[in-house]
Amino acid sequence: MKPTPMMAQYLAMKEEHQDSILFFRLGDFYEMFYDDALTAARELEITLTRRDKKNPIPMCGVPHHSARGYIERLIEKGYKVAVCEQMENAREVKGMVRREVVQIITPGTVMDTSLDEDSHNYLMAVSLAEHFNIAYCDVSTGELKVTLCDEETFFNELAAVKPSEIITAEPFSHTLTAKIKAVTTVLSVHDQLSTDLPEQAGQLEKTLQPAVHLLFDYVTMTQKRNLAHIEPAVYYHAVDYMRLDFYAKRNLELTESIRLKTRKGTLLSIFNETKTPMGHRLLKEWIERPLISKSQIEDRLNHVELFNAHFLERDELRQALNDVYDIERLVGRISYGNVNAKDLVQLKYSLEQLPVLNELLSRLDIEQIPADELAHIVTLLDGLNEEAPQSIKEGGVFKAGFNEQLDHYRAASKDGKLWLSELQQQERDKTGIRSLKVAYNKVFGYYIEISKANLHQFDADRFGYTRKQTLSNAERFVTESLKEKETLILGAEEKAVDLEYELFVTLRETLKSYLTLLQAAAKRIAVLDVLQNFSEVSQKNDYVRPEFSDERMLNLSDARHPVVEQVMNREDYVPNDCELHDNAFIYLITGPNMSGKSTYMRQVALISVMAQMGSFVPCSRAELPIFDQIFTRIGAADDLVSGQSTFMVEMLEARNALNNATKNSLIIFDEIGRGTSTYDGISLAQAMIEYVHDHIQAKTLFSTHYHELVQLDGTLSGLNNIHVAAKEYNGELIFLHKVMPGAVENSYGIHVAQLAELPEPVISRAREILTHFEQPSVKETPVYEQTAFQLFDSGVEEELTRLDIARMTPIEALLKLQELQDKAGGR
Ligand code: ADP
Ligand code: MG
Repeated sequence: MKPTPMMAQYLAMKEEHQDSILFFRLGDFYEMFYDDALTAARELEITLTRRDKKNPIPMCGVPHHSARGYIERLIEKGYKVAVCEQMENAREVKGMVRREVVQIITPGTVMDTSLDEDSHNYLMAVSLAEHFNIAYCDVSTGELKVTLCDEETFFNELAAVKPSEIITAEPFSHTLTAKIKAVTTVLSVHDQLSTDLPEQAGQLEKTLQPAVHLLFDYVTMTQKRNLAHIEPAVYYHAVDYMRLDFYAKRNLELTESIRLKTRKGTLLSIFNETKTPMGHRLLKEWIERPLISKSQIEDRLNHVELFNAHFLERDELRQALNDVYDIERLVGRISYGNVNAKDLVQLKYSLEQLPVLNELLSRLDIEQIPADELAHIVTLLDGLNEEAPQSIKEGGVFKAGFNEQLDHYRAASKDGKLWLSELQQQERDKTGIRSLKVAYNKVFGYYIEISKANLHQFDADRFGYTRKQTLSNAERFVTESLKEKETLILGAEEKAVDLEYELFVTLRETLKSYLTLLQAAAKRIAVLDVLQNFSEVSQKNDYVRPEFSDERMLNLSDARHPVVEQVMNREDYVPNDCELHDNAFIYLITGPNMSGKSTYMRQVALISVMAQMGSFVPCSRAELPIFDQIFTRIGAADDLVSGQSTFMVEMLEARNALNNATKNSLIIFDEIGRGTSTYDGISLAQAMIEYVHDHIQAKTLFSTHYHELVQLDGTLSGLNNIHVAAKEYNGELIFLHKVMPGAVENSYGIHVAQLAELPEPVISRAREILTHFEQPSVKETPVYEQTAFQLFDSGVEEELTRLDIARMTPIEALLKLQELQDKAGGR
């Protein structure tokens, strides 16, 4: 069937926007058809209909005035939306109205006020040649970064940047695509460049340009406007920061918790004293990218110390920052053209704080924020009405006195209204009708209303009234003079609104020449905000300034886990020391379950991250090397919760560490080898320790439940045993959480089983068996050969060997154990 002209127009447009949902404007609605309609109806839970009976095209629609919310929901779900508008007034043209896609909204380019102010929203472009050329941009703030790296670093960068959308010029290989999709869902190919190399890429080396070009082209093609606020691309080198691979970032829970993917329980959550959205976003970045340049780190620490020493100034600074809004995103909206008067009032409040901030900075001898030219903006913005409405097309945007012509129109309208209010009394007196009303509505304008009860004695002609509208209980009239005044009032109002809009657009355009200055000020404020936050947090929590050792000493006194100590009562947290150096760089950590091994290891890693991001640390004294990288492998036991526990993942994480760690790295191996059988596990664990010891010599914390490994301190000179102490008291186990030298004598597994309230016969039988194992002769014999035959008859034994323990929950295991015990004749 031949499509109608309108459907033909739709189909042609859809052809060009296949990967977007097309919002096709039809009068007061945006309509979607075919597959788009099916998708939108499902995702937005709106009714699906048919275009007409003969032509059963699936269709659904949303009213144009509430489209924003629907579009946001689709974007959040990872779709792109192409917004098609009518470019002509339907009443003024014959035939088809011309329609155009005016914007394509995508997860990486969305500019809405709905953006989370605490996070950046990044779009990343990847151009793959010999290396990975990546560029990423937060369109809402204008930040643009570019680099060149290998595949491994690319994935580390993905973990750090967490883009909400990735674009490439050519499709990636299947394996690469699959790996990327595991991180970001929106990955699209943008293969035709329609724009020239943007000036923001001009100063870059040739090899860095393709990704920036691609990114700009995509943003220009989707947003269809000039984005002057996007800053010149800043080149960075991933190795200029501490390298934290995907696993380390995840396991250390720097900005996102493993289980719930929230802020709670993360290192980020400790630093909750930033005052501005810019500051908060920068803080996240600093946490994700600890520094490795000693001078840069010391510079941050100097500022923290300065703020610590000047409590009063810090407090005033925090006060001032309270009134600073999201300048970065306000600037983005000025450039983008969707800024409103309320936004600009926020900008004014923010800029008014600059002199206050600068006065404080001068007292602290810190370089001031260039603010002279920005003072001029404050004057410009001063004309804005502080209670301006959301819309810039309804007037009420500017204060009286801002513009003479505007004041004139307003006066005219006001005079007219005054006249009107007097008119009611005059007409009442004239006609003698006390209930006579002068009123206004949008359709009929101003009118005089007389109720039905008063009409019989009323002679309209005598008073020069003309009938305008009849209601069931009243009659509405106009008079010549009322009509005149109406024209005057409405004319003046309309002119005022138009003029206000014009003035606003002019103001917005003027502001565009200040974008760079504003962005620079915003950046300085963000940095100050993060530093005062570090200071505030370190004083609140008794942190100390870390010192950096050129001899690779790691010497922490009374170290605490920054997050765990907050969750529990501060006084209940047991601080611990850690002392590693080039001749003793591996700690083999033993101790019963729940004693605090994992906590101890993570606290060392987190303190290192904190120190290198320029913060004070939770210790009484801290001396650290500057680590180039931190690697983590967190035990299968702990991983079970995230549902990712496969032995393969464990080995991949270990491989990453063993391949890339250097003498300047920190390795955290938490119970490695748990995901496989005992002998496999011990063998792998020992081989890894030996490899680290002989070939890498990284500072390493290695916790294990394999007590066999503690003997390694006899052969490996760089390895020391430590244990987390627990003691038996009245047959019960008490966790001391205290790290002590030497290996633990007892693994207390049976005590933990007792804590878990296993049946008493199991516990006492286990004690018997353990005593048996602890006799020297028995130790020689492999465990399983000894046990099975002695313990059970063959039925139980067979069942036991077939158990897939790795797939059992602890409860299932316990129940099974009980069942087997019953079969074996226990209890
Ligand atoms: P493990 O890895 O040895 O099984 P964890 O490190 O998971 O033990 O610690 C178990 C619990 O013990 C933690 O959740 C915490 O509540 C508590 N804990 C650990 N270290 C300390 C400490 N230093 N002081 C106080 N409580 C601690
Ligand atoms: Mg543990």
